[in-house]
Amino acid sequence: MSGRLAIVGLGPGDNRYLTREAADALEVAEALYGYGPYLDRVPDRPGQSRHASDNREEGARAEAALCHAAGGANVAVVSGGDPGVFAMAAAVCGAIEAGPEAWRAVDIAVVPGITAMLAVAARVGAPLGHDFCAISLSDNLKPWDVIARRLEAAAQAGFVVALYNPVSRARPWQLGEAFAQLSRYLAPSTPVVFGRAVGRDDEAVTITTLGKAHEMEADMATLVIVGSPETRLVQRDGRAPLVYTPREAAEVSA
Ligand code: SAH
Repeated sequence: MSGRLAIVGLGPGDNRYLTREAADALEVAEALYGYGPYLDRVPDRPGQSRHASDNREEGARAEAALCHAAGGANVAVVSGGDPGVFAMAAAVCGAIEAGPEAWRAVDIAVVPGITAMLAVAARVGAPLGHDFCAISLSDNLKPWDVIARRLEAAAQAGFVVALYNPVSRARPWQLGEAFAQLSRYLAPSTPVVFGRAVGRDDEAVTITTLGKAHEMEADMATLVIVGSPETRLVQRDGRAPLVYTPREAAEVSA
């Protein structure tokens, strides 16, 4: 008998950002799988088992959840933000692709959530108001050369760039290198937004420029948005400026 596996996005912070669909999927699950701090955001329910694992064990977690669901249970795997953005939905698809035939019979539901770049953008205005892309700076799963080439192409093409996974203890230099790479094509005055722990109690959002971005602190809970040549600030008396990218674009200068 094949069960159900819901891959649920919790949004960026507290439960205000959880969709109704996600809350329902968590409510009916018999078993929950996920990275410990994400599972901690889900209220305890009697009769529901919890299986916490380390952040770096996405593949093993996907397999364990699929095994459980293939046995007939209603299982949920949780992700921060959206499960399809640098998260568990792709890990589950990959496990199904490589796994036993029986896993293809499991009913899979991907339940979207508000991804970090949308939450950060919303705090400052509309930096993602025109064409943009998202790049993970983690070189655990791809070589740095690939990342550097994508940054270069994005800057040359005039995309606003959202940088996920900017730094970790094992990856201290990548963000500085990314700013250096982008600075070859973008002016020092280009707006840059640092959003840390958005939607949580310790949220901090700072607006700076590409020329000064290297002076800023960032950690694993930070998302960085680097503007395009069109991105600008609207200054307001007594209020934080609005950062926005207008919906009309000029010629790309490359
Ligand atoms: N699936 C997640 C992203 C996972 S990758 C999502 O859709 O948001 C993890 C990275 O997401 C972090 O290194 C950070 O860059 C970003 N991130 C996740 N939650 C965040 C938050 N509340 N505030 C700012 N950035 C966040």
